[in-house]
Amino acid sequence: MRPDRIPLAGVLGAPIAHSKSPRLHGHWLRTYGIQGHYIPMEVAPEKLAEALRMLPELGFVGLNVTIPYKEAVLELADLVTDRATLIGAANTLIFRADGKIHADNTDGYGFMENLRQNAPDWQPASGPAVVLGAGGAARAVIVSLLDSGVPEIRLSNRTRIRADKLREDFGHRVRVVEWVQAGNVFEDAATVVNTTSLGMVGKPEMRVPLDGLRAGTLVADLVYTPLQTRLLRVAADQGCQTVDGVGMLLHQAVPGFERWFGHRPEVDAAARAAVLG
Ligand code: NAP
Repeated sequence: MRPDRIPLAGVLGAPIAHSKSPRLHGHWLRTYGIQGHYIPMEVAPEKLAEALRMLPELGFVGLNVTIPYKEAVLELADLVTDRATLIGAANTLIFRADGKIHADNTDGYGFMENLRQNAPDWQPASGPAVVLGAGGAARAVIVSLLDSGVPEIRLSNRTRIRADKLREDFGHRVRVVEWVQAGNVFEDAATVVNTTSLGMVGKPEMRVPLDGLRAGTLVADLVYTPLQTRLLRVAADQGCQTVDGVGMLLHQAVPGFERWFGHRPEVDAAARAAVLG
């Protein structure tokens, strides 16, 4: 990157209009008075490789990557971090001065930082965790929970074979629970995380019975539209500590912004308000 150039970053996906990342990075750029731009870009699958070759030439220092390219970029990157390899997807690219593309996955980091910020007394190792869902987000959550010392993960997904695959990938601390049994494994859980899209605006409501939730359990939802999902409402009514999904979105963006623009941004009320509009 030439020093006289204004650094550019952005988010690449298809579709991209829904992405909240431009609002967040735009807010941070303004707040810290940084000369730079963050641009949403929709690219067709057959143009992905070409776009990744061209963008550094145009002054881009890196990118976020979202659906449907989080897996495909692993093949196109020159260097992939261990955690992105383990998760099987990348969401953050850095275009290095030597021309190499570095791919990382910060979703698990964002998930953990959100819990650390909003539930500072939470002890991941104090008991089993229940993870609902076995999609891309679940992989990042499971890797970070295992890293933080959770003794057992009870993983439940509508399509069992996807949960079985995660057990195969992540080992014996993951135990698969039938989807119809998910409500029966909450009682002694220290942590419950929804990584499905259930409860999101436009998606069906979560129908897993929640009466087994106990006071003291930390319940986190990755869904952030709406902010207060039924899961979080019921959990709070039953005395659980709850954490909504928007903080994960904010925290996962921190490492990329810092690498691209040279300033570690704050995840504070103003950043949250910027994303929630
Ligand atoms: P994904 O790979 O498409 O996985 C979707 C998951 O939801 C799968 O486990 C799927 O089960 C389950 N699901 C969908 N419809 C269902 C239904 N009707 N009944 C039961 N299960 C159903 O998506 P993802 O990337 O993992 O994202 C999942 C959710 O997390 C989305 O709402 C996304 O917005 C949110 N998310 C939030 C953040 C954040 O920063 N807060 C980050 C990443 C993702 P099957 O396997 O049976 O289809």
